[in-house]
Amino acid sequence: MGDANELRRILSRIDGRGYKAYRDLRGAFDLGSSTLYVDRVQADPFAAPTRIRVRIPAERASLPPSSLENRVRRLALADFLARRVRDATDQLGDRKRGSASSGLVRVDAGGQQVLERSAVAIADDWVEVRLEVGLPAAGRRVLGRQAEALLCGDVARVAERGLCAAHGPEGALREFVACVENQEDLRAQLDRLGLLAFVANGAVLPRESGRSDRPLRGDAVIPFAAPRSLEVELSLTHPMPGPEGPRRTLTGLGIPKGVTLIVGGGYHGKSTLLRALERAVYPHIPGDGREWVVSRPDLVKIRAEDGRRVACVDISGFISALPGGRRTDVFSSDDASGSTSQAANIVEAVEAGARGLLLDEDTSATNFMVRDARMQALIAKQHEPITPFLDRVRELYERQGVSSVLVMGGCGDYFDVADTVILMREYRPHDATRKARSIARAQPSARRAELRDPLPVSPARIPRPDSIDASRGRREVKIDAKHIDLIVYGTEPIDLRCVEQLVDPSQTRAIGFAIHLAAERFMQADASLAEILEALEAFLDARGLDALEPFHRPELHPGNLARPRRFEIAAALNRLRTLEMRVLSEGASDGLGRRDRTG
Ligand code: ADP
Ligand code: MG
Repeated sequence: MGDANELRRILSRIDGRGYKAYRDLRGAFDLGSSTLYVDRVQADPFAAPTRIRVRIPAERASLPPSSLENRVRRLALADFLARRVRDATDQLGDRKRGSASSGLVRVDAGGQQVLERSAVAIADDWVEVRLEVGLPAAGRRVLGRQAEALLCGDVARVAERGLCAAHGPEGALREFVACVENQEDLRAQLDRLGLLAFVANGAVLPRESGRSDRPLRGDAVIPFAAPRSLEVELSLTHPMPGPEGPRRTLTGLGIPKGVTLIVGGGYHGKSTLLRALERAVYPHIPGDGREWVVSRPDLVKIRAEDGRRVACVDISGFISALPGGRRTDVFSSDDASGSTSQAANIVEAVEAGARGLLLDEDTSATNFMVRDARMQALIAKQHEPITPFLDRVRELYERQGVSSVLVMGGCGDYFDVADTVILMREYRPHDATRKARSIARAQPSARRAELRDPLPVSPARIPRPDSIDASRGRREVKIDAKHIDLIVYGTEPIDLRCVEQLVDPSQTRAIGFAIHLAAERFMQADASLAEILEALEAFLDARGLDALEPFHRPELHPGNLARPRRFEIAAALNRLRTLEMRVLSEGASDGLGRRDRTG
């Protein structure tokens, strides 16, 4: 390992030379209070920035031992430190040190959600931040002095300020970690209480704007207040300050398992509530307003998504007898319709392990949700391939244990199947369960249930690894996350615009790599998609996010990654247009006791 003098010597030697000379910096430098690792040097000032890591010994960082005690605290602490490093980079002010990216210092810290991410690593002996920097250039020439000021000055200062507990108020660190742990502990109580989700009184659900994930502020905000009849009390690990001393419990709305409707007039806050439940599968930062909203981790948003690709999904429980005799028990399409895409989204979510579905009328296919009495009278069942969700939603819960929460302002036929009806009026929830029931009794729906056969248990789908190709041009593996909702996998775009529970572009990047890892390692021997997702989860638990990078080697900047849920990994794979699936069904035999059906 070199030292600071060695670093200065290299920089003065290459000063004024062509940009490629920066390659001589690769390696490790002991800078006294920290160690600098230069892992990947950019090829020119316009290329992707240089990847470095800065490591500080544990004694120097002196992070509070209590914040290292369990997995959740460590995750929260790492997320918090990344945010503090980002604050320190913001404080550097104007740090332009030449042309193009010269002088840039960047860390991949998160937004409103707290995620496991690669930006900060915490080991027993050290804590490390992974940064991107722009090595300074004049035109395409090395600016040695500026590089020294960047690496020995800016970068060292940012790491010190961000990672050492002594900088910044300690209270903030403890508060952040306690807030995240509270959320995870609340989440852990849900199942025992028979709940899908919990929204504490006082939570702030609306956002600043349709483009911002920050809380709405000001007098217009109506804080959440649960109706008495649906109120539950959950206990807090870390007491919260309250007006009458520390509080050890939280009171709020419990959304029970089963079928829940969210009804109410237009613009009364229905979708805002559902959206909060979607996001609450992740913990939120203190001050977000949703830090006291928690959902089960296996709730999945379902919507219509016409145009998506579908590969061998058994949607026959919802759709049968398509025109032209097209099969729906192994349904494939390069251009699914609104209703077939929504059906496929449900079957795929359940395949990946979803225990609750979140649906909003705003983004659902009407003919998938309901067929009313008059339409039934006009179009006989034998000419309508769709069994609407209305006729399956109870069965999904009672036979398969999959609950639903539906935003439904337009169709009272759902009163017949709901366990709980939450009515939103001027952003305040009311319990309308009894009223909806008595209306359903007094005004029976003239529609007939359209069940023929019970919901089928979908056969396992087996992805073919040879239909997943990460190569592009001369590169054997080229996977880019262009935006939060677009992966380019090899040469194939994967459109994730309708995958609404992705919250961070670094999750998208991780998903691209996870697909590659799965294709390389976990798609052998007839592994089903569900088994592959299980294997990926176990891999991430054991090896950590860093190991996802296709060319990963220990002691190298792993890139900017954040942990995705298995549902979003599955969603991306299911949208890869080249993907081919096989389906194994019991019964007829291929000699192995299985029959191969390819759609
Ligand atoms: P709906 O789905 O019932 O038509 P939305 O949930 O889309 O209504 O909400 C309509 C508007 O009201 C949105 O702009 C949203 O930000 C705002 N809003 C929602 N909840 C609240 C609240 N608790 N306080 C203030 N504004 C809110
Ligand atoms: Mg709405």
